[in-house]
Amino acid sequence: MVVCPLCGRELDGSRAVIWEWHQGDEVRQAYAPFMEDLRTSPERLSHPECYAERFGLRAVLELVAEHDQKERRGFWKMWYEIESLKKRLAASERE
Ligand SMILES: [Zn+2]
Repeated sequence: MVVCPLCGRELDGSRAVIWEWHQGDEVRQAYAPFMEDLRTSPERLSHPECYAERFGLRAVLELVAEHDQKERRGFWKMWYEIESLKKRLAASERE
């Protein structure tokens, strides 16, 4: 059972979390839309609503925006790769 340190209640694996880890001396935070999809074992996991209560809604929204930007870059990269494959395929069909 994973418990949120801010409220002491259990975290639901199918819901969003804020996760924290150490990078050198710095503590980093990130938003994850589904706890069960995390491929690491974070040092600390909390409910977004508890994190917002402690650090403010803006802090949570910034982490969500960072996550969305990363996803967006991923989708663009995928789109670009598909387009280059299509071009290569069309060129090889012309040969
Ligand atoms: Zn909580």
